[in-house]
Amino acid sequence: MPEVNTDVLVIGGGMAGLTAAARALHLGKSVIVAEKAATVGGSAQFAGYAWTTPAHAIMDEVNPRGDIELRRALVNGFGPGIAWIRSLGVECADAVTVLRYGSGHQFDTNSYIDECRRRIRAQGELLTETDTRALLTEDGSVVGARIRLPDGTQREIRSAATILATGGFQANPELVEKYIHPAASAMQLRSNPNSVGDGLRLANAVGAATSSARSGFYGHLIPTGVQFRDPSDFVALSLYYSEHALLFNLDNRRFTDETVGDHLTTMELLDQPESRGLLVADERVYRDWITGSYVEGADALDKFELAQRRGGRCGIAESLDDFAYLPTEWGYNGVEIAAQIRASNAAGPAVRPPRTYDARPLDHGPYYVIEVCPALTFPFYGIRIDRHGRVLAASGGTINGLFAAGADIGGLYDRAYAGGIAAALVFGLAAADRAAADRTGAPT
Ligand SMILES: Cc1cc2nc3c(=O)[nH]c(=O)nc-3n(C[C@H](O)[C@H](O)[C@H](O)COP(=O)(O)OP(=O)(O)OC[C@H]3O[C@@H](n4cnc5c(N)ncnc54)[C@H](O)[C@@H]3O)c2cc1C
Repeated sequence: MPEVNTDVLVIGGGMAGLTAAARALHLGKSVIVAEKAATVGGSAQFAGYAWTTPAHAIMDEVNPRGDIELRRALVNGFGPGIAWIRSLGVECADAVTVLRYGSGHQFDTNSYIDECRRRIRAQGELLTETDTRALLTEDGSVVGARIRLPDGTQREIRSAATILATGGFQANPELVEKYIHPAASAMQLRSNPNSVGDGLRLANAVGAATSSARSGFYGHLIPTGVQFRDPSDFVALSLYYSEHALLFNLDNRRFTDETVGDHLTTMELLDQPESRGLLVADERVYRDWITGSYVEGADALDKFELAQRRGGRCGIAESLDDFAYLPTEWGYNGVEIAAQIRASNAAGPAVRPPRTYDARPLDHGPYYVIEVCPALTFPFYGIRIDRHGRVLAASGGTINGLFAAGADIGGLYDRAYAGGIAAALVFGLAAADRAAADRTGAPT
């Protein structure tokens, strides 16, 4: 089998992989990127903000069960990560608030992807439509991988460092049922379609440690019964405004504090009967949040109108009395839900479950009602790493020569979320820096 040597082999060409590759080239290393799809970019093509919590204390508060070493590394590495993006000539806007507790920069992820690709093509090697069959090991160290090229031929790439960056396993129904929730495979995929857990499989085969299952996932609520037609729907149909609305399950009860964030409510809804619920907004929420911009700089779009046009289960009730006419086939009791809304309005800040960050009443008709379900972007379960991106061994210590970054990693978030681009950026850079520092040349 033909054999090739390189300093750094990167498996996966999305945010984490491209970042690691461009950084390793910048540090004077030879680099090969193996990407499974026909083009690089992964889910990063659809993202718009690099963000995380601006301070450790906030990270500790919103993500208390996340791995402490990785939490620290993410916050510490974020500023240098933004500086790195800018150093490539890609503009990052001034910081804005993201998801209430975060801070981040809007940037054109596609310009960043293009610039990384240009550098890899110019100074390294970019292989697309290339699959990785297995990692190569010697004396417990990873020394490269066996890949399959688009023409079916296989090649052994021997590398001093191998970086796994395949973007998670959200597109693998068996794995999402096993590691997220038994009902998780019913969720629509809100991500690139190629992240099927190859990084996890490769890491497991060489004895990597993995994080705790059932730690959740990143995703958003979407209207039930509306299929994504193309990736622009991933954002267009995400109902970020749910944190200002009320969400009822099939028992006609609220079950979570919606105000902590749509991405957290999404995880909670997965666990409710049939993983669906009725999202209710009033005239104020419609005006300020449904038709408004969710993050400063993001496009404003009337998501209710879009869901209605696309055949979602939507209705407008002029008053709470009109909830009596909710279609019975949806499975909810409209009279009971109206009573719950009245009770919630009367309770104000004493309402249960609490509405910690926005307990204002929903007392102005018309009411905008949509049935919603969760959609999946990437899981929080995955390969355990240290702050340098080195893969931890299940038996203790690290696996020599093996790194991971981005949505392939686990343990950073546990039923909490503070940025996917940031995690890919920070640990992609950390892995490349450490790989460059560990070795000076390719193995022979
Ligand atoms: C619609 C949408 C909007 C988002 N918005 C934001 C945002 O504004 N801010 C934010 O922080 N996060 C956002 N995210 C999340 C963010 O995009 C991801 O967290 C981030 O892209 C993860 O980087 P990654 O490199 O791990 O995965 P990806 O960027 O998805 O890249 C993984 C790559 O690996 C490739 N691959 C898979 N298997 C293999 C294999 N066996 N061999 C080789 N290659 C393989 C895939 O084809 C893909 O190119 C958004 C995601 C979506 C879908």
